[in-house]
Amino acid sequence: MNDFGVYAYCGFDLPAEERFKKIKAAGFEKVAVWCHSDFNTNSGISEYEQFKFLREQSLGVSYAHCPIKYAPYLANKYYGAKEAVKTHKIYVKSAKEQGVSICVAHLPEVNAAVIDNVGEIAEFAEAQGVKLAFENLTGKAPFDELFRAVKNAYFCYDTCHALMFGDDSGEMAERYMDRLVATHLSDGDGVKDCHFMPGKGRYRFDSLAEKLKKGGYKGDFVLEAFQSSEYSDISEFLSEGKARLEEIFG
Ligand SMILES: [Zn+2]
Repeated sequence: MNDFGVYAYCGFDLPAEERFKKIKAAGFEKVAVWCHSDFNTNSGISEYEQFKFLREQSLGVSYAHCPIKYAPYLANKYYGAKEAVKTHKIYVKSAKEQGVSICVAHLPEVNAAVIDNVGEIAEFAEAQGVKLAFENLTGKAPFDELFRAVKNAYFCYDTCHALMFGDDSGEMAERYMDRLVATHLSDGDGVKDCHFMPGKGRYRFDSLAEKLKKGGYKGDFVLEAFQSSEYSDISEFLSEGKARLEEIFG
């Protein structure tokens, strides 16, 4: 069964405890969190606090996002590469200890060094029982070479990023369906990285829903829209987001 989730921060600054209560009240089953610090600092949540508050609200974790600051070094053969691989393994191990089964990471591009480095991290992740998924940032088929070379690397489909590169209907989800384990659902204008509420832009979510159903997608539907002036507070934003996901994928 597919669960409904939301990215923990979603652009609203409020205390962590309150944030997770409101996510639960809006009817979400899961939350997408960040490993370690970087984006968590926006909401003042430490790594361990967020899992404590999630458990208190009986919310599941859809996936833990790896911090992006070490991702560029994965494209290097030498400089910083060893440290980047080691750090990604720590994110995976820490996620595993918190009962999280999917980690999402970014890649600067795919080259021979990325294939080597990702191969090593993905093998470690598999041994831990964690699926390491990569999110599309640019292009329409960015992972052909990576997925051919690394059998245990997975895919996180971001609709807003896909739209910027001409996929407005789930073509990439279909292309990598056998690796698809996570989604980042938001809308856009096809030009900028907008992360609008689904339905407020040009992305054809109904077509994606059809493709995911046909492909037997078992993962979560995770809202990755951000705050905008349309919403007076996080509760209004979350309840509209939940309703939109239910309409499209329910
Ligand atoms: Zn995303």
